[in-house]
Amino acid sequence: MSAKSNHNHSNNKWQPATQVIHAGANHDDPHGALSSPLYQTSTFAFSSSEQGSRRFAGEEEGYIYSRLGNPTTNELEQRMAELEGYEAAAAAATGMGAIAATTMAFVKAGDHIIVSDAIYGCSFALFSELFERFGVHADFIDLTDTELLASSIKDNTRLVFLETPANPHLKTVDIDAVHAVIKDKDIRLIVDNTFMTPLLQQPKQHGADIVVHSATKFLNGHGDVVAGIVCGSAEDIATIKGTTLKDMGATMSPHDAWLILRGLKTLDVRMQRHCENANKVYEFLTQRSDVKTIYFPGAPDHNAQKLMGHQMKANGAVIAFELDGDEAMARYFLDQLRMIKLAVSLGDAETLIQHPASMTHSPYTPEARAKAGISDTLIRIAVGLEAADDIIADIEQALDACKAQWQQSA
Ligand SMILES: *Cc1c(COP(=O)(O)O)cnc(C)c1O
Repeated sequence: MSAKSNHNHSNNKWQPATQVIHAGANHDDPHGALSSPLYQTSTFAFSSSEQGSRRFAGEEEGYIYSRLGNPTTNELEQRMAELEGYEAAAAAATGMGAIAATTMAFVKAGDHIIVSDAIYGCSFALFSELFERFGVHADFIDLTDTELLASSIKDNTRLVFLETPANPHLKTVDIDAVHAVIKDKDIRLIVDNTFMTPLLQQPKQHGADIVVHSATKFLNGHGDVVAGIVCGSAEDIATIKGTTLKDMGATMSPHDAWLILRGLKTLDVRMQRHCENANKVYEFLTQRSDVKTIYFPGAPDHNAQKLMGHQMKANGAVIAFELDGDEAMARYFLDQLRMIKLAVSLGDAETLIQHPASMTHSPYTPEARAKAGISDTLIRIAVGLEAADDIIADIEQALDACKAQWQQSA
C-alpha cells in the first residue's frame, strides 16, 4: 500500500459519531477519492505465478478471490470491528448467513447449545430444525433466569446465543449476568445486536465473545440491502472466514458492502432521530385508551429499565402494542394506514408496521404463539425517520377509523 494514502487513521479515542465515518478507513485510492472505491470484481490478477503461490500459501498479504476477501468488504469489516470494539469482523450475505456461519464454525455433531427463548424466527428455525438434523441439540431457555442457565449447562455445551432486545416484545437479557455464569467454561457467548447497533449497546463490554448483526436493518438503514456482519477476536473471525464462510459461501457482495459503508456514515444521526421518534410514538400510544398493552424498553414496567444507561444507551426504535379488540380490528387498523408501510424489517427511513401473528410469527402453531405471548392483536412498529408528528397522525387516523368502525358495528 502506498505511503501517502495508507494511514489507517483509526483512533481509539474517537467517539462513535466519528467512528461511523472514519474508523478503519484504509482504502488506498491513487486519486484520493473521498468515497471508498467499489472493487466490483470477482477475482484479483497476480503479478507473477510466484506471487499467486505466495498468496495461496499465506506468505504474502493480498487478495485472491472475492469470496475470500475484497478491499471494499474489508473496509466495512474493519469499521464494524472498531465500532463493536473487537479485533476483526467478517461480512456475510445476510444476517442469517452471519448467524449460521458463526454458530456452525464452533459446533460439531454431539454438541449442545443454549439459546434465548426470545429469538428471531429464522434463528429459531436454524437451531431447532437444521442443527438438530446435524446432531447439535439446542435448549431454548429464559436467559433472564441465571439459575436456569446454570442448570442447563452440560459438559458438551459449546455456545450460548442470545438477542437483546428481542422480537417482538423487546425482551431484554442482562449480558453481564449470562457472562458471569459461563465465563470459566469453554462456552462462547454470541449476541445478536441488530436491534441496538454498537451505538446503543456494545455487548463486548459485557462479556460477549462474538457479536452478530443483520446489517439489513439499522446499519445499512436505507432498505436496499440484505446483509450480515459478525465481529469478534482475530482468531474467531479467522476460523469463521476460513471454514463456514469460505466453504458454505454466504459472503457479502462488494456492492452491498459499499452501500453499507455509505449508510453507516449517518448511523449516529439516524439512531438519534429513530430513538426520538420512537419515544414520541410511545408517548402517543400511552394516551390512547384503545391501545391495551405497549411493549417498549422505555415503558416504566419493561424489563429493559434495569439495563438502561448501563447496557443500553437508549430505547431503540421498535415498539409492539396490542389493540383492545380482536384480530379483525388489528387487520382493519393496518389497512387504514396511509403513509406507514405494511412491511417486515426495521431500521429503515420509512416507518414499517407488521402483524406478527400472521406474518413474522405465522410459522408458530397457535399454541406456541400463545405461549410466546403473541396475541392476534399484537402489532409491531419500527419507527422511521419521518417527522414524528406525521407518523403519529397516521397512527391516530387509523385508530380513529377503527373506533368508528367498531362503534358502528356494536
Ligand atoms: C432481520 C434479523 C435477522 C436476520 O437478518 P437477515 O439480514 O434478514 O438475514 C437476524 N436477527 C435479527 C434480530 C433480525 O432482526
